[in-house]
Amino acid sequence: MNKLISEVKKSFGELLGCDPEVAVRAPGRVNLIGEHTDYNDGFVMPVAIDRFIAMAASKSEGEEVELHSLDYTSSVRFPISHIEYDHQNLWSNYFKGVAYLLRQDGYKIGGCRVVLKGDIPQGAGLSSSAALEVASALTLKSLFALPLPDKKMIKLCQKAENEFVGVRCGIMDQFVSCLARQGSALFLDCRELSYGHIPFSDEFRVMICNTMVRRELASSQYNIRRGECEEGVRLLAQKLPGIKALRDVSLDEFLQHQHLLPQVVAKRCRHVIKENKRVLEGTEMLKKGDMHGFGRLMHLSHYSLKEDYEVSCPELNCMVELAESTKGVVGARMTGAGFGGCTVNIVHRDRAEAAQRSISSRYKKEMGVAPEIYLSTPAEGALKGVFL
Ligand code: ADP
Ligand code: MG
Repeated sequence: MNKLISEVKKSFGELLGCDPEVAVRAPGRVNLIGEHTDYNDGFVMPVAIDRFIAMAASKSEGEEVELHSLDYTSSVRFPISHIEYDHQNLWSNYFKGVAYLLRQDGYKIGGCRVVLKGDIPQGAGLSSSAALEVASALTLKSLFALPLPDKKMIKLCQKAENEFVGVRCGIMDQFVSCLARQGSALFLDCRELSYGHIPFSDEFRVMICNTMVRRELASSQYNIRRGECEEGVRLLAQKLPGIKALRDVSLDEFLQHQHLLPQVVAKRCRHVIKENKRVLEGTEMLKKGDMHGFGRLMHLSHYSLKEDYEVSCPELNCMVELAESTKGVVGARMTGAGFGGCTVNIVHRDRAEAAQRSISSRYKKEMGVAPEIYLSTPAEGALKGVFL
C-alpha cells in the first residue's frame, strides 16, 4: 500500500484511538503541453504525478468536523452546519469549501474526523490545492455514500477553489487529479470536458524542475492575458461570426484576419491557436511512441510562451536551456501560468538521475539558488482507489 496512506491510517489510530473507516489519496499534476489554452476553451495534456494528498477519516456522532493536518501539526474544528472561511488556518479552507458546496447542493453530510498529510510541493504550480480538494470530496463521498458522479465532483472542487478559497483556476487540475490513469497522459477538451488516456512510453520519465522563483506577477498578468484573448475573439468575430473562443479559430483563419488585431493581441492569439494545434499533434505523437517528436513540440511551446505570450522569465528560460543541452532529455518547457514555478521535461529513464544531478548543479552555478527537481511516472487519479 502507498506510504502516505499507511502513514495517515497509523496517525489516525494514534491521535483518535481507533481505525479509520476510509482512506483516500489524490495526486498533484503537471501539464505536458497546452499552456494558457484552458480558458480559451481549448485542449490540455496533463499527467498526474506520484505525489499525493492522503486522508484517513471516520464519521462521528453529532455535527462536529475535526481536521488534523500532520504537515502543519495543527487541528481545526467546526460545525458542519455553519462553515466559515478560516483566516488563520488557510490549509483548512479547501476541505471546508468542498463541504460547504456539497451541503449547498443538498448532500447530507454530518460530523467526521479526518487526518491528512501530503508530499506535493506547495505553491510550486503542481496543484497541491486541487489534490486537497479532490481528496476532501472523495473522503466525504465515501464516508456518507453520496451519489456524486465524477464530473459533478470535479466541477464542485473547482468551484470550491474559485468561490470559497477565492482563487481563479480552470478545470484541468481537479480533472486530472480525479481521472488520470497510471502510465498515461490525459487529453482534455476544456469546453466539452471530453477526455482520453494517451499511453506514455515507460522508457521515459517526467522530470519537473522548480526554479524556486515565486510567481509574483502570475495573477495580475494572467488576468491581462485573459482580457487580451477576449479582445482577440471580439475583433475576429467581425469576420468570423459565431466564434465564441479562440478554440473556434483555425490557423488559416487567423492568418487571413490577423491584420484586424493590435500587434500584441495578435501575438497572444497566435500562441493560443498554435498551442491548441500542438496538443492535438502531441496526442498523435505519444500514441505512436514518438517521444522525440513530442519533445520538439514542447520546445516550440516554450518559445511561443516566451516570445508571443510573454509569460516566461530568465530563470525558466535558463532551466529549459540547461535541460535541452542535457543527455537523455528529449523535451523541456515552462509549465503553469509562468513568471516562475516549474519547467516540465521528458527524460529517458536510464539518464534520469544523471540529468537531475547535472541540471541541478549547473542551475545553481548560473542562478545562485539550488533548484528542486522531482522525477515521476504518470500516476493514477484519485477515483481509482478508496482504501478501506
Ligand atoms: P499549488 O496548488 O500550486 O501547490 P496553491 O497556493 O494553490 O499552490 O495551494 C497551496 C496551499 O494548499 C497551501 O498553502 C496549503 O494551504 C494547501 N496545502 C497543500 N498541501 C497541503 C498539505 N500537505 N497539508 C495541508 N495543506 C496543504
Ligand atoms: Mg493551486
